[in-house]
Amino acid sequence: MFNRIGVIGAGAMGRGIAQLFASSGAQVQLFDTRAEAIDEALAFNRNLLERNLAKGKLSQQDFDATVARMLKATSLSELKDCDLVIEAIVELLEVKQNLLRDLEAIVSADCLLATNTSSLSVTRIAAGCQRPERVAGFHFFNPVPLMKIVEVVRGSRTEERYIDGLVKLAEQAGHFAVITPDTPGFLVNHAGRAFGTEALRMLSEGVATPQQIDRILRDGPGFRMGPFELFDLTGLDVSHAVMESVYEQFYHDPRYTPSFIAAQRVAAGLLGRKTGQGFYRYEDGQKIEQPESAAATVLINRPFWLDSQDAGLRNQVSAVLSAAGASLENGAEPSANAICLVTPLGEDCTNLVSRLGLPAERTVALDCFASWDKRRVLMRNPASSAELVAQARQALAADGVPVEVINDSPGFVIQRLIASVVNLGCEIVQKGITSPDSIDRAIQLALGYPKGPLAFGEHYGTPRILEVLNNLQAVYGEPRYRPSPWLRRRVQLNLPLTTPDSQE
Ligand code: NAD
Repeated sequence: MFNRIGVIGAGAMGRGIAQLFASSGAQVQLFDTRAEAIDEALAFNRNLLERNLAKGKLSQQDFDATVARMLKATSLSELKDCDLVIEAIVELLEVKQNLLRDLEAIVSADCLLATNTSSLSVTRIAAGCQRPERVAGFHFFNPVPLMKIVEVVRGSRTEERYIDGLVKLAEQAGHFAVITPDTPGFLVNHAGRAFGTEALRMLSEGVATPQQIDRILRDGPGFRMGPFELFDLTGLDVSHAVMESVYEQFYHDPRYTPSFIAAQRVAAGLLGRKTGQGFYRYEDGQKIEQPESAAATVLINRPFWLDSQDAGLRNQVSAVLSAAGASLENGAEPSANAICLVTPLGEDCTNLVSRLGLPAERTVALDCFASWDKRRVLMRNPASSAELVAQARQALAADGVPVEVINDSPGFVIQRLIASVVNLGCEIVQKGITSPDSIDRAIQLALGYPKGPLAFGEHYGTPRILEVLNNLQAVYGEPRYRPSPWLRRRVQLNLPLTTPDSQE
């Protein structure tokens, strides 16, 4: 359908888009107000293709043909014969509106105008055009040829045939095209808000250090990078701007609240890798790893009591305690001497202690969402005895698995973060931003999560996720954690999260 594609803006995104479509057979004309940017982009792409040629991933014939399909346009009017023009210029509404208006005077009446905007409303960009029905969002991710997903954004007046055309084009180029309406953050930048904002909230409450939170989330749910490592990689200035933009556009819905910590660190220039200092320090681009703090050896002189009747968990705990030379009590109540291990869901240790009338100084919480084999997580309450926490930590590490000790937090680290990711994913599906069968694939491809939000919900158990959220909402008294109706209904009806609303 699209044989001749114009790409405007030869920066990081424009050059990638040009390479993608030239590689899949279209003739691409690249334009930029800075002529040198076009030359640099073409040289950059040629260099990438040369490397693929050298590695044997590309034949000489394909290399020659692809290079020949990437042309330089020296003026906007040279794009007059294009049947699709994709803009990837500076992220400013008025500049984009002006560009599209200028283009309308040059291209044919049916030429599709696509914008790669990541944060502006497609509908507003199109509003300045004579024919807004031929304007759509085509939101790629960096680096374009490697990030095999694109959001095809339907503006309020975009005609369906243009959406279909972009989907086909993306699929021909080997990308997964996910259609979304024009809502703040579209799909991916919306769904990604839970991970970072919840991590910053935990940090602001002194739950754990950034390093601990990252380790717990890598070893538990299996994220490739923890939230603070990701902030450092993306640049906190970029991430904070997205957090603020989505929050503002949703009229301050507390689900999206950004953090004063990020604002302050941005002001201080602690942006991450690019400034050499973020939540971690970098030298020559390499992260300086801080060794994990080793605990002093203590004498374990008390039995343990566990609140859970789950046989699997009791066996695991009992085995590691006996390796430490300690025992697990079987009584319904703890003995007067026992260290009490409790397993709250979405409650903090303090709340559980006070609800069950347990001895606060002898009680420590164990996260049942953490990976038993990779990293265990213990949580103290403000009255927990330091000596007894040290005994619990040492006993639970007796088989060599590291144990992280954090401060009191409703939902530890993993429960509240995963519940927030699942809840937001459910809310996105509830709002019709994408379908329940597309969201997980899109999020895995775009954000690199080990599972999509709905699959995370099924993995940990949707009734447990709902319980975590209800308790978070009760403990904090905040609507930030209010469960999405999508999640609640499917738990109440015992249905998978992928069940659509309508069975037509
Ligand atoms: P960039 O700064 O690397 O490149 C922008 C290019 O556009 C520059 O070469 C500039 O000279 C050119 N330009 C600016 N105004 C122009 C105009 N009026 N006409 C023609 N050329 C013009 O920016 P980028 O990172 O490639 O981002 C481009 C767009 O893509 C933005 O809308 C951005 O929000 C979006 N986006 C960026 C990313 C990312 O990760 N960088 C991801 C998705 C979407």
